[in-house]
Amino acid sequence: MPFTSLGLGPKITKAIKEAGYTEPTPIQVKAIPAILRGVDLIGIAQTGTGKTAAFVLPMLEMLSKAGSRSGRRAMRALVVAPTRELVVQIDENVRKYARHLHTRAATIYGGVGEQPQIAALRNGAELVVATPGRLIDLMQQGHVRFDDLEFVVLDEADRMLDMGFLPQIRQIVRALPKERQTLLFSATLSKEIEMVTKEFQKDPETVQIGRRANPAETVTQFVYEVPKARKLALLTHLLEDKTLDSVLVFSRTKHGADKIARKLIASKIPTGTLHSNRSQNQRLTALRGFKSGEVRVLVATDIAARGIDVEGISHVINFDFPPQPEDYVHRIGRTGRAKAVGDAISFVTSEDTANLRALEKFIGRGIPRKRAEDFDYNAPAEIGAVTFDDRPRRQFNSSRPSSGRPQSRSSYGSGSSRPSQGRPSSASRGSSSSRPSSSARPSSARPSSTSRPAFASRSRRSRP
Ligand code: AMP
Repeated sequence: MPFTSLGLGPKITKAIKEAGYTEPTPIQVKAIPAILRGVDLIGIAQTGTGKTAAFVLPMLEMLSKAGSRSGRRAMRALVVAPTRELVVQIDENVRKYARHLHTRAATIYGGVGEQPQIAALRNGAELVVATPGRLIDLMQQGHVRFDDLEFVVLDEADRMLDMGFLPQIRQIVRALPKERQTLLFSATLSKEIEMVTKEFQKDPETVQIGRRANPAETVTQFVYEVPKARKLALLTHLLEDKTLDSVLVFSRTKHGADKIARKLIASKIPTGTLHSNRSQNQRLTALRGFKSGEVRVLVATDIAARGIDVEGISHVINFDFPPQPEDYVHRIGRTGRAKAVGDAISFVTSEDTANLRALEKFIGRGIPRKRAEDFDYNAPAEIGAVTFDDRPRRQFNSSRPSSGRPQSRSSYGSGSSRPSQGRPSSASRGSSSSRPSSSARPSSARPSSTSRPAFASRSRRSRP
């Protein structure tokens, strides 16, 4: 289906073509005509599905077709998103799609000076992308006028609720005109999200793409069972493989992220960090470096990396296994995005086995286990190895040579997992000895259909 059949005008379709998009994604096929019809919409879609364009394109179309209610240049569309990085990313998309329009856009987020943001509002920015905190600051100082507001988008609404932003969102939405179109995007449709939609939307239509627990189908997933004290050594070992060329590493804590980065930098691996203790400038510099390829490894915490869209991430590494299955799905959604193929590697210690089991149940399949070749799982921890806490550690029985042989379940205590037969990862293709071995254990579980394009495979499962 061509973009032109969705009701978008020539200036926007030209920009879409220049962005290299050949056809709309399933969420775009469903959401764009609905938004153009003027209805309130609930979009259930994960990042990587093209959801940003699904709400930005129709809003730009409508903003460019008619003037504001008052006839003045004023804020007409507001997108609220949980993190500064996401705001910047949405704004980048807006600028890409609006390049042949006269629509003015602005961003509002904390950690940087207020004055340029106040000036942009005063100059009549029509489409504003904001984090809740700074927006409320500026509202309270009297710099924000919503009289001409026609659209509000709550993006990553589930994340905003998780981060405790509900009171701020209420405060913002209550200040908006009653006559407006409200769009809400969320990766999941929980009871809390339903409550929010009832509170803020009128007769919303729902479009849903993919199952709730659906990691992108293009992502190949592997688990490395490793003693906690050897995780950092395993990471540096895996990074000897140069095919891991753009790697997003998730750490549970900011402190841990810094330690990992220090070790990688000491190993001469260009590394950046992304977490909330870093200044806004440091975060944007790290992200820019990662996007340009100068920074090979970006170590991030969940919150800071929320919704980050970087093209061409080759691997996501869960240095710390996420306790919540939803976080795992979010994290690995950073790779394999928009038809690219990527690998998701998780380090699992003896303390993570229950969480791994819960995850495998959640996603409905086992994740293949791998053993790194030429890696000594038994070596004593290096001085300064990242262990994150000082509790006594139960370690895996890792006395077996790292031959790539399957491991007995008892040694890991993850008896319930029935890993699926994984496609060899890009890291395991080829024969370099420094590459991780592809000793995925065989399984009767459903194999992942990794060869299908993400959008095509998702559309088959999409529910209206
Ligand atoms: P999002 O889910 O909004 O974070 O988008 C994920 C990625 O998909 C972004 O890099 C977009 O530029 C890209 N994208 C969005 N729509 C399309 C499309 N129709 N065709 C190809 N790529 C797209």
